[in-house]
Amino acid sequence: MPRPSEISIDLDALVHNARLARTLAGSARLLAAVKGDAYGHGMLACGQTLSPLVDALAVAFVEEAITLREHGVEAPILIMEGPFDAEDLAAIKQHEFATVIHSQGQIELLAQEGISPDNSLWLKVDTGMHRLGLSMSEVDPALNRLTAMGVTDITLMTHLAMAESPEAALTVTQLRRWEAIIQSRPLKTSLWNSAGLLGHLAGKSDWVRPGYMLYGGHPGHRFDAAPLKPVMAFTSRIMAVRDIARGESVGYGGHWQAARDSRIATVSVGYADGYPRTATNGTPVWVDGHICPLVGRVSMDMLTVDVTDLPATSPGAPVELWGPRLSVDTVAQHADTIGYELLTRLPARIPRRWVSSS
Ligand SMILES: *Cc1c(COP(=O)(O)O)cnc(C)c1O
Repeated sequence: MPRPSEISIDLDALVHNARLARTLAGSARLLAAVKGDAYGHGMLACGQTLSPLVDALAVAFVEEAITLREHGVEAPILIMEGPFDAEDLAAIKQHEFATVIHSQGQIELLAQEGISPDNSLWLKVDTGMHRLGLSMSEVDPALNRLTAMGVTDITLMTHLAMAESPEAALTVTQLRRWEAIIQSRPLKTSLWNSAGLLGHLAGKSDWVRPGYMLYGGHPGHRFDAAPLKPVMAFTSRIMAVRDIARGESVGYGGHWQAARDSRIATVSVGYADGYPRTATNGTPVWVDGHICPLVGRVSMDMLTVDVTDLPATSPGAPVELWGPRLSVDTVAQHADTIGYELLTRLPARIPRRWVSSS
């Protein structure tokens, strides 16, 4: 019998969240980010589900876009890191992918190798995140060069470092620079990610680019009330239960000690399964309808939960590590990380199952 841990992906929830994104986007066009293997939910299944519901899909690399095409995904696809070399650019032209252009090096590559007027280019401008993008003074020379190459379809884009905090000085600065960039240039624009879309952030965005919210994640506390449905359920079962006396410790390092006589349940999920070892004592775990605290260090293949208040718990009882009953964002908070990381670094060894009512 295989061990009972599995990841179930609810494609109906994905559709629900995509429809919500569509409503929030209003008249803006909707680009769905499926990078990072659709944030750990399976790029092909999610790309195929989202393709008819959105205006385009976004991946980081050309290889990801080719995989989507080879599996029948028909929506336009944007390559968010753009071409790394001539081979990438050839594939972009061949498949008519849309591509971000974020550097002078990429503009030189286009000048050398040529670009088709059928390719949409997204010119990325660095308004203050300082990760990718042309500086503001490079924008006009770049636009002139691209126009001279015959490119007609250009969208201006920028990325915010703190879209979840509209009042932050950095966001205010980035929005002010964005205004200056798009003003007087009659081009399409793209600014909002999930947090921008959920928060109706200021700043023009003809295209919106949500990722995390499509998978039911909340990109910040202020969005906790957004009616998103978690797409992933990471579940297992209790494999062992024991009673320990007050004062005994649990797990490696003995760093959790029972303050009372306690009942400890062991779950066959550990850090090798993608559950964060940084999760602290007290991290919530859903056990058979109740939230119980994680106790002791997470091991490679197991973790331990205090079920003293659930005396009837026995081996085989269902466990949810995160999912519709327990938000991945809450677990992430207890593990000093973000839900994005927990979702995207799940290893292949856990079976994934895609479910849909249609
Ligand atoms: C990943 C990404 C997004 C989506 O961000 P979310 O926070 O997941 O909505 C949008 N734009 C760019 C450039 C990205 O890299």
